[in-house]
Amino acid sequence: MPAITNHMPTKELQALDAAHHIHPFTDANELAESGARIITRAEGVTLTDSEGNQIMDAMSGLWCVNIGYGRQELVDAAARQMQELPFYNTFFMTSHVPVIALSAKLAELAPGTLNHVFYSSSGSEANDTNIRIVRHYWASKGKPEKTVMIARKNGYHGSTLGGGSLGGMAPMHSQGVPVIPGIVHIDQPHWWNEGGDMTPEEFGLERARQLEAKILELGEDNVAAFIGEPIQGAGGVVIPPSTYWPEIQRICDKYEILLIADEVICGFGRTGSWFGSQTMGIRPDIMTIAKGLTSGYIPMGGSLVSDEIANTLAAAGDFNHGYTYSGHPVAAAVALENLRILQEEKLVERVHDDVGPYLAKQWATLLDHPLVGEANSVGLMGTLALTPGKAKRAKFAGKEGAVGLRCRTRCFANGLVMRHVGDRMIIAPPLVITHAEIDTLVERARKSLDETYEGLLKDGLF
Ligand code: PMP
Repeated sequence: MPAITNHMPTKELQALDAAHHIHPFTDANELAESGARIITRAEGVTLTDSEGNQIMDAMSGLWCVNIGYGRQELVDAAARQMQELPFYNTFFMTSHVPVIALSAKLAELAPGTLNHVFYSSSGSEANDTNIRIVRHYWASKGKPEKTVMIARKNGYHGSTLGGGSLGGMAPMHSQGVPVIPGIVHIDQPHWWNEGGDMTPEEFGLERARQLEAKILELGEDNVAAFIGEPIQGAGGVVIPPSTYWPEIQRICDKYEILLIADEVICGFGRTGSWFGSQTMGIRPDIMTIAKGLTSGYIPMGGSLVSDEIANTLAAAGDFNHGYTYSGHPVAAAVALENLRILQEEKLVERVHDDVGPYLAKQWATLLDHPLVGEANSVGLMGTLALTPGKAKRAKFAGKEGAVGLRCRTRCFANGLVMRHVGDRMIIAPPLVITHAEIDTLVERARKSLDETYEGLLKDGLF
């Protein structure tokens, strides 16, 4: 076999990829037919592919490269740690300096009494851990019947059996999840799609009160926790009405239900605060973290839990749970360096005071486009609803997502990675994006929207 390198022709790389690599969330035949886009390098907010095209990555990879690509400091931190101590476990009464330092740092950054971290290698694993923690916690408090976890339809919490069960993604549920008993789903606070004639504020309250109704239906003595993303990411950057989270917090407090904020996307500056919970004004008992924790340079996730939970677990003796890579020293060293950069370069404040408001202003200019019915953002998470009728929040005839897919294809052709969720376009660029790059992003988005619109007119679909 010839050496497989960046210099191999794209077609050959694509054929080998299709022959041996099963891609996540991908139709393998479609992939084999069109060939994967092969990314070879990246710097700042820009990717380079195997054909030499430069593409602006308005999705930060998978919502994770918060400090941007090409940061030598993270490379150096990983290399130093690999030389000094590439691995040691945190089982059996052992620890190491990077994980000690990272845990103390996370306790300092996290709100409230979230002072304790259990590590994983991903967001999915961290949510699996949360199921274990929540059930063990209530059992340890003498309430073993408090096991049910309430989550939301169209929420995303990962792709392990636990994460997929907590998530409310219908296409995943049709393929073998949910399999974990005792997980139920209520409706999401997606006003644009599901709000009918209600005002967003009325709708936010109505959706939050479904939690109360579900608790009363199941009996509060059986309910352990509620989990939600402060802003749903994979569900389409669903920014809940302002009334939603305060009401959820009130209900969790009233019935003694643990509140889990899945901060895998919203954490580490994405919404203009360190955590989305702070932006949304909630006080979670547990936060799921991953992605921006290391800016995606190396896999790491975790569950940040309150003093009350950590103390209860400690009093109960052994917690029979853990992963080989829980608190991996190289991942911890990279995370620490990433957090140092976020802090020293004031990137979270920058999102809050500067690039977040600038993006909001520029993004909102797309609202005058004939295809766009909603153009919203929080921090550096943005969403556009594509619609054939703005006033009625109308949906396109035909398969949902077909127009979104057309738009995404035009975006790629115009040098922009923007993702589509159904007929909604979403962005989450690196926090280091500049004003000039935001201008380019919005220009390319508009051009792509224009081309999508022209295509729809030409095909008689608008
Ligand atoms: N929770 C949320 C909110 C996520 O967005 C994701 C990933 N997109 C996950 C959990 C799962 O994380 P991972 O893919 O690292 O397992």
